[in-house]
Amino acid sequence: MDYQAVLEEVAAYARPYAGQGQVADYIPALERVAADRFGIAVADINGEVYGVGDWETPFSVQSISKTFSLALVMAHSGTTEDIWSRVGREPSGTPFNSLVQLEWENGIPRNPFINSGALVVTDRLQTLTGDASTTMLHFLREESGNPDLAFDQAVAGSEAEHGDRNTALGYFMSSFGNLENPVPSVIEHYFWQCSIEMSCRDLAAAGGFLARHGLRADGSRLLEAREAKRINAVMLTCGTYDAAGEFAYRVGLPAKSGVGGGIIAVVPGRCTLCVWSPGLDARGNSVAGAAALDHFTTLTGWSVF
Ligand code: GLU
Repeated sequence: MDYQAVLEEVAAYARPYAGQGQVADYIPALERVAADRFGIAVADINGEVYGVGDWETPFSVQSISKTFSLALVMAHSGTTEDIWSRVGREPSGTPFNSLVQLEWENGIPRNPFINSGALVVTDRLQTLTGDASTTMLHFLREESGNPDLAFDQAVAGSEAEHGDRNTALGYFMSSFGNLENPVPSVIEHYFWQCSIEMSCRDLAAAGGFLARHGLRADGSRLLEAREAKRINAVMLTCGTYDAAGEFAYRVGLPAKSGVGGGIIAVVPGRCTLCVWSPGLDARGNSVAGAAALDHFTTLTGWSVF
């Protein structure tokens, strides 16, 4: 596969969509990014990375971090099963920060990729490692090969200032006994994780273990193959907010999006992609990003379907 040529063609197709949609404005630090930026990168399973456009520009990973916290919990707990007694594996059908479902399902979030689910996963990572957000930052530095990756203090601070909803989710789940650590510390680590700044290049490389059936960049094993398969499955069914059905229909790849405008997508056994364009559709997915991935699977025939 001539990745560079494919990416050029994908970018030519998707660029007209850049600028469409709305940049996330729930915190001032995200609102300042220009909506029409566009970049895309692909990392093959040998770690070679190709890119086009703004593929080396760092942006706020936001909810894409939820993929890595789940992977790290699985890796550190040594079993896939314990986390699944505390968080489900079904699409939520409600917005990413919704509270309602938690009441009728006893504080067990629908899946690890909505905020409530990610808080449970972060809580578990905190117990397993003693420092959830630093564990993630170190992991991402190693897998991306970029030692300069860092938290964005302004974004993390802004999240905390506007964090009432996430804090409410935390206390509500805690009331059901579904958090092990104090709510403020879980929330803080969750915000730090969301604030990490990475480029498409960094994220495509860091997500390589999902395409390599659980093998890290250095060839060592992070996850069993079946665990990587399970993360990919949950990405496909729950990774793109409450538009995962539409995303499977159009793109047909496991993917995780974030309100910073990034989306990572996995072609198991072949490559990991990351696309970034900050204009979001009504569900919170990058408009140009979804168009690009749609065109990528059309051109290559590499949808999992
Ligand atoms: N930090 C954001 C929040 O928790 C993440 C939103 C997202 O990317 O879905 O509200």
